[in-house]
Amino acid sequence: MAGTKFAYVRNFELPDPLLPDTYLVCRLDGHSFHRFSDEHGFAKPNDERALQLMDHAAKSAMIEFKDIMLAFGESDEFSFLFRKSTNLYNRRHSKILTTLTSYFTSCYVLYWSQYFPDTPLRYPPSFDGRIIVYPTERAIRDYFSWRQADTHINNLYNTTFWALIQKGGQTTTEAHATLRGTVSATKHEMLFSRFGINYNEISQRFKKGSVIVREIVAPESSDKGENLEPSMHLTRSEVNKTREESPERSGVPDPPTSIPPHSPST
Ligand code: ATP
Ligand code: ATP
Ligand code: MG
Ligand code: MG
Ligand code: MG
Ligand code: MG
Repeated sequence: MAGTKFAYVRNFELPDPLLPDTYLVCRLDGHSFHRFSDEHGFAKPNDERALQLMDHAAKSAMIEFKDIMLAFGESDEFSFLFRKSTNLYNRRHSKILTTLTSYFTSCYVLYWSQYFPDTPLRYPPSFDGRIIVYPTERAIRDYFSWRQADTHINNLYNTTFWALIQKGGQTTTEAHATLRGTVSATKHEMLFSRFGINYNEISQRFKKGSVIVREIVAPESSDKGENLEPSMHLTRSEVNKTREESPERSGVPDPPTSIPPHSPST
């Protein structure tokens, strides 16, 4: 009966359940990573080590949170798709969001030195997070297409922007001014004619982001077809090739259409 007199304050904590039977997407994004990337000497426009560290943290999060089926990452952000039927933390909004965000952040710090052995962390990085609830597969598909279109648009801009600075000797202000109002074809042309860069030959990861999918692995034949729980493992795969002109129709793998068996969650 400890704290009886005070226990009423608990009633001010309101339940915050997420709608049942809907897809949950949790998107994390580095807080002020423009500054963080500067202060830690990220290569511009794309630091491969930083992207690999993001992938590592995301993969660790998927190992910890078994109901995440798919993740998509670009720049300082990662989106995680939870299965529709997830009952993780009884679908409590704050609990899922804060636990995943802090787990991812801790992994980012924990694995930092593997990717940046010569760059000590100068201050603690942080990530913001949000959960978006989607009712349909179509919306999920469009969500990932939207993020991937963003990757493409930003990368084309940044690649041209940094070429103007690093190879063209422009200041950041001048480079922004050069690019103002330009369409995609103009940037391609500028990259090729002024700097000899064929945008199509740039790393797929930079243009399309990275995808981590949870694969359901069929039981070994030695199991003699007994009805075992499927084991799962994670793979990192590049997004399918797409035409540059239509990133909105690009090939992020479809989210699982048949929902795999429920895995226990706490
Ligand atoms: P906010 O807190 O609002 O998210 P932000 O500074 O993090 O602010 P974003 O729009 O998230 O702004 O952009 C992230 C920035 O981090 C990029 O513009 C880029 O400067 C930098 N960045 C992130 N990842 C990389 C990377 N792998 N290589 C180089 N720069 C990166
Ligand atoms: P949940 O994820 O629901 O919060 P939990 O295991 O963290 O689960 P809490 O009710 O938050 O449960 O209790 C935290 C537990 O962590 C304590 O019961 C205790 O076992 C342990 N713990 C936390 N801080 C200390 C500490 N300073 N010294 C020893 N044990 C600690
Ligand atoms: Mg943000
Ligand atoms: Mg950010
Ligand atoms: Mg960002
Ligand atoms: Mg606790």
